[in-house]
Amino acid sequence: MAHYFVGLICHVMAETSFKNFQNQPLIEPLIHISALKADHMRDKLKEVGRLWKKYLDLIMDLEDFELYKTIMSSQTSQPHRAVVEHWVRQAVYQRMGQPVPQVAQAPNPLVVNISARHCHLTQEAVDALFGAGHQLSVHKWLYQDGQFAAKETITLVGPRSRVISNLRILGPCRSLNQVELAYTDAVALGFDIPLRSSGDIAQTPGAMLMGPNGFFEMDSGVIRALRHVHMHPEDARFYQVSAGDFMTMKVGGACGVQFEQMLVRVDPSFKLEVHIDTDEGNACNLLPTTSCELIKV
Ligand SMILES: [Zn+2]
Repeated sequence: MAHYFVGLICHVMAETSFKNFQNQPLIEPLIHISALKADHMRDKLKEVGRLWKKYLDLIMDLEDFELYKTIMSSQTSQPHRAVVEHWVRQAVYQRMGQPVPQVAQAPNPLVVNISARHCHLTQEAVDALFGAGHQLSVHKWLYQDGQFAAKETITLVGPRSRVISNLRILGPCRSLNQVELAYTDAVALGFDIPLRSSGDIAQTPGAMLMGPNGFFEMDSGVIRALRHVHMHPEDARFYQVSAGDFMTMKVGGACGVQFEQMLVRVDPSFKLEVHIDTDEGNACNLLPTTSCELIKV
């Protein structure tokens, strides 16, 4: 973990006063060196001398870096890269006495995740598919508190008997059944699916679900989910938007795009997180390192 922090600190410092240094090209290799141990990084930094003194100052007391301790003690699993970056960015700007840029002023990090095809089920559907009283078990906790990808998967049977197997169930159970597919999935299945926000499933196609214990027929609920951003009210205040508004998300990188029509969803239980589907994520080659920015329209 330490080397990961060193790389991040270098990266953030590259944004600050080191921006105009002649040695700018050194920054890239240094970020790559972050894959090595922190010791190696120190040696490398010493080589390049006084220009990098500020890097050294920060790295030398990495062990005392309170942020590092905070993150390590508050997370049970590896925190999302955007979360660590946000905290490191705030800490580095503070220590260097530099004006904090807009992105680092946000109350919370912007996490962007790709939702692969999945379904939400009622307990009634789970009973039918897995046996009466069956409880979904946690495969992986999601970024939104209390939400999880279940170990259980089902088979989705579309028109003309084409199937998608291993469709992941997201828990906990809800009050309605909903299958969220990307358009590419829908084309493969032979479905014509509408673009809807989650929960808005009136007049949408249904499907047959198959589990180890039996079948469950959905009358409706197969949709392509509208791209959206989950916001806590304090995030909505920061971005000056309200529930139901649409924002634009600018994605950087070699396949950079702007996603318009990003629906704002606000709830005190939400953490700031954008959900796009696999078609959208693949279109811009979204990686953990890809820069993303939310823009009020
Ligand atoms: Zn979502």
